[in-house]
Formats: sequence, C-alpha cells, structure tokens
Amino acid sequence: MAKRVSIMDAVVTSKKTPTRVRVAVRLRPFMDREDKEGVKEQRACVRGLDSQSLEIVNWRNQLETMHYQFDAFYGTESTQREVYTGSVYPILSNLLTGQNASVFAYGPTGAGKTHTMLGNPAQPGIIPRAVRDLLQMARAASGSSPDENWTFSISMSYVEIYQEKVMDLLEPKNKDLPIREDKDHKILIPGLTQKTITTFADFDEHFIQASQNRTVACTKLNDRSSRSHAVLLIKVQKSQQVIPFRQFTGKLYLIDLAGSEDNRRTGNQGIRLKESGAINSSLFTLSKVVDALNQGLPRIPYRDSKLTRLLQDSLGGSAHSVMIANIAPGEKCYFDTLTALNFAAKSKQVINKPFCQETTQAAAQFTVKRPREDMEALTTSR
Ligand code: ADP
Ligand code: MG
Repeated sequence: MAKRVSIMDAVVTSKKTPTRVRVAVRLRPFMDREDKEGVKEQRACVRGLDSQSLEIVNWRNQLETMHYQFDAFYGTESTQREVYTGSVYPILSNLLTGQNASVFAYGPTGAGKTHTMLGNPAQPGIIPRAVRDLLQMARAASGSSPDENWTFSISMSYVEIYQEKVMDLLEPKNKDLPIREDKDHKILIPGLTQKTITTFADFDEHFIQASQNRTVACTKLNDRSSRSHAVLLIKVQKSQQVIPFRQFTGKLYLIDLAGSEDNRRTGNQGIRLKESGAINSSLFTLSKVVDALNQGLPRIPYRDSKLTRLLQDSLGGSAHSVMIANIAPGEKCYFDTLTALNFAAKSKQVINKPFCQETTQAAAQFTVKRPREDMEALTTSR
C-alpha cells in the first residue's frame, strides 16, 4: 500500500534537508609594522579578483596563478560592516524561530580572526554587532503577535576548548565540562554557566569578565589563546505566554578558532608540539566535517573532536553555518594561506599567467621552502 505523506512528514523532511556551510574568505591589508619590515619581505602573493574569487601565485610554476572561488570574498578594503551584513546578518532571523547557527573565523595566527569576530571599539566585529542586533530583534518581536503572545529571552555562555577540554570562561573552576546529547539529539553541556542578557551592557559586563579569565589562563601558558578555540554561545529562547506554553530555543555559536598554521614548520617543540597536535586534529576534524557536509556524505565525523561534537546540532543539518577564512597578503605566510584557501575553496583553477605584469620579476624571485608533506608527496610519487 502506498504510504500517505502527511503535511507533518513533509515539514519534517524539509527540515532535514541539510544546508551547506557557506564559506567566505577575508584578506587583511598589510599592517604598518609589516610595511616597515622592508619591501622584499612584504610582496603580496595573493589578491582579490571580484566579490567571490581571488588569485595566488603558483609556487610550483611561477608563470601560473591559481584562482579560487568562494561564496564571498572580502578584500583588503572591506569594512567590518560589509563582512557582517554580507555573511552574518542574513542568518540571524532564524534564531528567533528556534533554528541554530554557527559562525567561525578560521585561519593562521595573525591573519585577522579576532579582528573579524571581535574587532575593537572603533571597528566592532561580528560578535558585538550580532549581539546588538539579536537583542534588538528579540525586543521588536516580543509581543508582536497578540494572538499568540510570545516573549523572547537571550542568554550567553562562553567556553574555551583547549587540548580537548571544555573550560567555562564565566566560571573558570569548571575546567573540563562534559558534552552530552539529549533524546531529541540536542547537544548540551551540563553545569555550563548561562547568563541572561537584556541589554548590550549586560553582555559587555559578562564578556569582559570572561575574556579576563581567558587572559589569566593564557598568560600562564604563553600563546595559549592562539592554540585554543574561543566559543561564544548566544541562546534565543522563544516562549509562548498562553496555553499550550510552547518553547523554542535557537542557538548561535560565534567561534574564534585556534590558529591553523602548521606548527611543524614554525618549529614548535615539546609541549607546543603536543598542543598543536591537539589543535591540528580538531581543526582537521572540522575540515572533514565541513567537507562531508558540503559533499552530502552520509557519515559526518562530528564525534571525532570536542569542537565538532559541541557543534553537532548547530553545524550542518538544518543549521545555518558560515566559515570565514582569514588570510594575510604577505609571501611569508604563503603556505599557511594556501592551506587556509584549500580548506575554504569551493573551486580551484590553475590559470596560465603570471601573478601580475608589474611583478613578473618579483614572482620570478618568489622563493619559499617547500613544506615537508609536499616533499614527501613528491618523493613517494616517483
Ligand atoms: P588572529 O586573531 O587571526 O591571530 P588578529 O585579528 O589579532 O589575528 O589580527 C592581527 C593584527 O592585524 C591585529 O593587530 C589586527 O587588528 C590587524 N588586522 C587584522 N585584520 C585586519 C583588517 N581587516 N583591517 C585592519 N587590521 C586588521
Ligand atoms: Mg586571535
């Protein structure tokens, strides 16, 4: 007998249609300090072509460039507002209907992840803009449909994932919190501090305190901040004030990821190497998860790291996810930039022309040490 498809089935099915992870790349400008370091060190090896693509020198053949395409490309002139309105603002309204979302800043240390996520008072980044707008949207929506009478409340939690341990930045004595899944496949962290925020000042107060807690942890171990993931969670709860008192919760994760640089090349040793191993493996898992989602593979390896396990209900599935890969322009960062681009790319094409006419001479002198894995690949393929 043919199975009748009810409207509920259709709704459930459409909810399960996985959404792709959208990927944007942001190229930061040269900083003053770098400009002073001298011209030779500071030739650009990458530049934008249009609002979705860029080109980078091909180190294997300097008469070629490689073109990469993304969902969005933000060049050196792009503002914090452009990045936010182009890639983040459009997903926020989903939070008010109980859907989940996540925004990541990926890339090597110094490429602009914290600038993109947090920014500074003169150039606020994604976090303060999104929190401000969500508070405003929740205020506007509260009580706006008189027949159903909904109210909205917003709360925040802030954790750091370091060496596969989840630490509560709002209550630093919680150093190794567990991650659990409930019967509805929702991911939760029992014992995690959650603070209600009704104004931006509330958010600021908790966020500043949590950031200080992170700094304390970081100064005990130099450079920890670039080797841990900072995960801010904003929960939007929608509650019906009349029978049947329904409730929906939308979660937004805003994540400043650990640096994606290859520490084998930067010569980190001992504890550093152990740490970078942990980071690299969780970033590696993240890249496998994003890849599997975007290719529509049946198995998504969320359980292979704490970070992806935490994000299981907010990355892929019906969640709305945006990855912003940050890169720096200088040739000193060439291989880290290339790794970040290969992680982010929707498509790549080798084009038969040098990087640019004026710098053909410069491109011809473009010399970088081959990364170990490339050398290995070359050796084994022979
Ligand atoms: P990361 O967090 O990836 O290590 P940062 O965000 O700290 O990198 O950026 C390194 C430096 O570059 C900081 O001084 C930051 O203010 C600056 N910077 C990064 N991106 C930009 C940008 N798009 N425009 C101006 N300055 C930037
Ligand atoms: Mg940073």
